[in-house]
Amino acid sequence: MPERVILHCDLNNFFASVECLGREDLKGKPVAVGGSVEQRHGIILAKNEAAKRYGVKTAEAIWQAVQKCPALIVLPPHYEKYTHYSRLARGIYEQYTDQIEPFGIDECWLDVTGSTKLFGTGEEIAHQIRQTVKAQTGLTISVGVSFNKIFAKLGSDFKKPDAVTVFRREDMERLIWPLAAQEMLGVGSSTLRSLHRVGVYTIGDIAKTDPHTLRLVLGKGGETLWRFANGLDLSPVSVSGEVPVPKSIGRSTTTPRDMRTAEDIALTLLWLSERVSHELRENHALATVVQVHLRDNALNVTEHQRRLTQPVRLAELLRKTGYELIMEAWDGVTPLRSLGIRAAELVHEDESIQLCFGCDYEQLERMERLECGVERLKEKYGRDAVLRCRQLAGSKPASHPAFRKIV
Ligand SMILES: [Mg+2]
Repeated sequence: MPERVILHCDLNNFFASVECLGREDLKGKPVAVGGSVEQRHGIILAKNEAAKRYGVKTAEAIWQAVQKCPALIVLPPHYEKYTHYSRLARGIYEQYTDQIEPFGIDECWLDVTGSTKLFGTGEEIAHQIRQTVKAQTGLTISVGVSFNKIFAKLGSDFKKPDAVTVFRREDMERLIWPLAAQEMLGVGSSTLRSLHRVGVYTIGDIAKTDPHTLRLVLGKGGETLWRFANGLDLSPVSVSGEVPVPKSIGRSTTTPRDMRTAEDIALTLLWLSERVSHELRENHALATVVQVHLRDNALNVTEHQRRLTQPVRLAELLRKTGYELIMEAWDGVTPLRSLGIRAAELVHEDESIQLCFGCDYEQLERMERLECGVERLKEKYGRDAVLRCRQLAGSKPASHPAFRKIV
């Protein structure tokens, strides 16, 4: 079998770069993209090179960033633009191979082993792609070229922006092993703490540690890391094929009796959010916009929506956002006959933003796992098998025990 040729392409400072396209006035200035700029608690989602030089960091509070860099220009995010440019880049990758695996909205692995006769070596293909992306979109990418996915990804981080790094098999000990352990995919903050406890600091340290020891320290994942560090990752670039996501997913209900209290509304909304969340998961989609609509007992309809600072599908976050929107729209007095919540402007989970944006990413992961687990229980034992405490409350909300109709 010939050595595989894997590329990892990473759009540099993606959100900030997209926001700066065509904005001559921003040239050379420190720019960041921030979530909920109008709120004091907004966080930095992305920053450009100039902002980086001031020490502005992703996920820190906007006010902290502004303290370090008073001239910082903070722009709101535009997810529809990011999706658009992500697809443009992907269209360019597709001219070189059909084996493409997206990793978040701004990164892809490409297996170009079968394309080298036509387009040249991995390094040459990487440069062609880099130049084409730049010419056609105005954005820069960094590309790592290697014989496995893990080292290709290390390469795209090694030199950026607008650069190509090749890691050959013979470069492993000299170039890869001195790198810090956390540079490698799979080494998160808790894994890193465990590694430090046993004196493992670099990728080379991982490679040279007995895999059984790593297994004792980290569990099964320890051996995987050992294989990664030794260049033994054989995982293929999996072709996900673009599964189209629906435009939006919503649920609404008319309750058996009018909803009169915030508690009534909260409970109804929780049920609906869980259904929407479940369907988002089934469709591999996340929402970037949440919409609610209310109909009162005089049949007046009110609609309200909000763009999220990052795509979500957790029932808990849909519920929270929906509740805030309803509380903005509802006068608190008029009884409500029906309400609905809709997840809109959906993005495929492969295109969603997988990095920590200040919201505790590990916490989000845990919540996602928890909700998935609860869903599996419900599938097995029925929808009432697992209830949240508030769903058991004795207040007999309008929506309990069952909806008259969910549409
Ligand atoms: Mg990137």
